[in-house]
Amino acid sequence: MFDLPSFDHHEGVHFFHDEDSGLRCIIAVHSTVLGPSAGGTRMWDYADSAAMVTDALRLSQGMSYKNAMAGIPHGGGKAVIWGNARTDKSEAMFRAFGRAVESLQGRYWTAEDVGIDTSDIETAAQETRYAAGLTSGGAASGDPSPVTALGVFRGIKATALRAFGTDDLSGRVVAVQGVGSVGGYTCQYLAEAGAKLVITDMDQSAIERVSKRDGAQVVGLDEIYDVEADIFSPNALGAIINEDTIKRLKVKAIAGGANNQLATIEMGQKVRDAGILYAPDYIINGGGIINVAAEISGTYSREWVDSKLDVLIGSLGDVLDTALESGAPTNEVADRIARERIAAARAAK
Ligand code: NAD
Repeated sequence: MFDLPSFDHHEGVHFFHDEDSGLRCIIAVHSTVLGPSAGGTRMWDYADSAAMVTDALRLSQGMSYKNAMAGIPHGGGKAVIWGNARTDKSEAMFRAFGRAVESLQGRYWTAEDVGIDTSDIETAAQETRYAAGLTSGGAASGDPSPVTALGVFRGIKATALRAFGTDDLSGRVVAVQGVGSVGGYTCQYLAEAGAKLVITDMDQSAIERVSKRDGAQVVGLDEIYDVEADIFSPNALGAIINEDTIKRLKVKAIAGGANNQLATIEMGQKVRDAGILYAPDYIINGGGIINVAAEISGTYSREWVDSKLDVLIGSLGDVLDTALESGAPTNEVADRIARERIAAARAAK
């Protein structure tokens, strides 16, 4: 464990097995320096347990950075469950998972991520106090997508300001990949701001909803990279910024809500070399975790969420400005500032 490349001074890596339900789960707590760790639970059919450990280590470190940049009082943690999200779930499994979370006594707060839906977390919440993203209960925050999308929209404006000298989006062409929850709401904001939308998605009903409502032009799944646009907004998949797509993109900025957009860290430098300003994904999509943090605080307040969105957009602006001044890739500047914030909090303690 301590020699693994993904191990980054994690405070705790906890392995759980429940024989009756078949639960195999790792909860990685990267840091609690800024507060109790928080991050979603992912259910994935890993090739082997080494892949599962690596995912838990990397995702929990990523949550530390994300939470630090969002300015919320939480460190980074993540839970991963080994299994097929379509066929392997049971109530017993998620109750066992809830007991695993509870056993950490608040050092880790869970919520939804890939492969997990609200009902799974609600089952776990029967066994633990440390679950959020619920639809019922005093401070329930429900679907975080609208808040994520508001952050993405404001982040697109902040990026446009640096890339074009104005954050006025009227007449700007934005190519949007994925118009599901986050992408759909983002399109609505963009259309209201006068942007011209070119969209793609594999879900025909999502395409129809957004193209009708927002007057968006529709292109094929692979054509989105070749669109003559000002901004590319990825809101579906990870690893879509790679050697191949960077060559094809004609935009001046990339700003969207999808997680893990860069195929590798080195793509940050390549994007910069191509003259494209990249809004680091884990900052611009931080609205979701802010919404969850509001629930964890015990009294959900929209004013608090909005004030934290202001902090988030301020952090994004700082990262973009620092990167532009220093010539460093934006993703590297973001990681450095996040690490500095955590180190400063540790020193203050
Ligand atoms: P979603 O499932 O509602 O929407 C994703 C959309 O992408 C779907 O409509 C899907 O059909 C489409 N899609 C899938 N493959 C595609 C492809 N190859 N090309 C084009 N479209 C494709 O999910 P979401 O909640 O909107 O999340 C979107 C992204 O944002 C994910 O990467 C997610 O991790 C990230 N994210 C979401 C939130 C949130 O609050 N929901 C918060 C932070 C980050």
